[in-house]
Amino acid sequence: MSFQSLALAAPILRVLQEQGYDAPTPVQRQSIPVILAGKDVLAGAQTGTGKTAAFTLPLLQQMLNAPKVVAPNQVRVLVLTPTRELAQQVYDNVRKYSQYLECRSAVFYGGVSIRPQYDDAEQGLDILVATPGRLIDHLHQKTVDLSALEVLVLDEADRMLDMGFIVDIKRIMAKLPAKRQTLLFSATYSNEIKQLADELLNSPQLIEV
Ligand code: AMP
Repeated sequence: MSFQSLALAAPILRVLQEQGYDAPTPVQRQSIPVILAGKDVLAGAQTGTGKTAAFTLPLLQQMLNAPKVVAPNQVRVLVLTPTRELAQQVYDNVRKYSQYLECRSAVFYGGVSIRPQYDDAEQGLDILVATPGRLIDHLHQKTVDLSALEVLVLDEADRMLDMGFIVDIKRIMAKLPAKRQTLLFSATYSNEIKQLADELLNSPQLIEV
């Protein structure tokens, strides 16, 4: 199977070609069509399997299919990650894969000044990558508005639970529209993950690699 056969457009294929990605990885082959169809996903995938592109590429394609001007402080796609390092890594990938598209993205995590993040949020964001704590600060300040969110991605959800983010995640969920697409990526399936998936996902497609 090729990336071309996955219904990705030229500006995305160009990056993949430049990166030397010859073919989609298993998690990409399984996730991309399901995400493009707008379905919820529960995916068991470790780091190194190509999971970041597995969710980023179809979400960029959805944006190409349905371009929209994002209102100030609004977000279309939110990617939650457990750590700053992962947030930065996912964001670097989002930037790379979206370099030939119109896509406004930002990364918000704690331990750095919040002020520049206010300016980024004010522009309206197609994709926001964030850690839970700093995102909650923005929700309190009303500098980020998630009421029109289209897609939520929980990346390394098992690590988020291990790190005690469940209360933060629930607080964030309370701010999201019920009608949305949700994608949950986790390296392991504990009872806690199953419970979280039951609460957050709507008839998800299960993907195991
Ligand atoms: P991830 O699992 O998202 O952390 O990705 C692991 C690494 O695989 C990253 O360095 C990606 O740039 C790379 N990668 C992702 N998809 C592909 C692909 N289809 N072919 C080759 N490398 C890839």
